[in-house]
Amino acid sequence: MSKNIRSESSQRVRIYLVSRPSLNITGLQSFLSDEKTEWRRTHRATQAEELVEVSGRVCYMSFGEAQSPRDTNAYIDNLIAMGHESVLEHASWTLLISGVTRAFTHQLVRHRAGFSFSQLSQQYHDETTAEFIPPGHLAQYPAARRAWENAVNNARTAYAEILETLNAMEADQAHSIQKREVRRAIRSAARSVLPNATATKIMVTANARSWRYFLKTRGTIPGDLEMRNVAARVLEILRPEAPALFSDFEVSELTDGPIIVHTAHSVKGRSAT
Ligand SMILES: Cc1cc2nc3c(=O)[nH]c(=O)nc-3n(C[C@H](O)[C@H](O)[C@H](O)COP(=O)(O)OP(=O)(O)OC[C@H]3O[C@@H](n4cnc5c(N)ncnc54)[C@H](O)[C@@H]3O)c2cc1C
Repeated sequence: MSKNIRSESSQRVRIYLVSRPSLNITGLQSFLSDEKTEWRRTHRATQAEELVEVSGRVCYMSFGEAQSPRDTNAYIDNLIAMGHESVLEHASWTLLISGVTRAFTHQLVRHRAGFSFSQLSQQYHDETTAEFIPPGHLAQYPAARRAWENAVNNARTAYAEILETLNAMEADQAHSIQKREVRRAIRSAARSVLPNATATKIMVTANARSWRYFLKTRGTIPGDLEMRNVAARVLEILRPEAPALFSDFEVSELTDGPIIVHTAHSVKGRSAT
């Protein structure tokens, strides 16, 4: 049972890491040199982790003799434990997510703080060949699955018919409004019949604090399989990018797919150098 559900719900999701934080060590060294101090770096810390650490250290000017023996991991762990999380906002990642539904992205774009989005337009893009993504749990229930298939096929047909009929508008209104705006109007009318299941693509940039918030609030809801699947993939990508920022999240398994468990933030993995 769980295998069917898993394949239905997760096989289409693709997440591509398209940007990651970088630390310009030359610029930082200039600052340290102007301040006549130095920074002992932690062996194997990633650039994202270093960026966050340095941002925190600037607040306290805890460089040089004022730098404690804590490694980057322990330093960040302490920032999070103290609730000094604004420093996490300096590290951002951009993920390009495809093979998800408009229902999913509608929920995702409700997140305002620290997120930026760019999504495939249904006004500019012709959705005649759009895919529809079935909810995972329907695989087990053939009658419900058939009802779903019928509904999305009807929507596809209606979309094509509306598009075809309204294409006449393009000729009729050619002189009154710009061609591009006529097309927008036509596709706006046609897209109104497309379901929540319509596949889409979305570019998402968020900082570490916001990704953490997303994982906490969205990856942990048992009844939202698609969200859980995406959240688990996001964690898979981000954790190696900055273990100190994401190692307090773990992926556990329910019968139908992954769920994120948030544990208390603790120092894991690497020792001080
Ligand atoms: C289980 C669940 C059920 C939901 N059900 C519904 C529903 O039925 N209907 C519905 O409309 N939405 C629903 N939502 C969406 C929810 O209301 C939020 O819009 C969405 O989760 C984004 O959360 P957020 O506003 O905390 O996040 P963000 O916008 O990312 O903000 C992060 C945090 O920043 C702070 N913040 C951001 N903006 C402001 C502000 N303007 N003022 C003060 N503080 C701010 C808050 O502390 C906030 O938690 C649901 C969400 C979940 C997780």
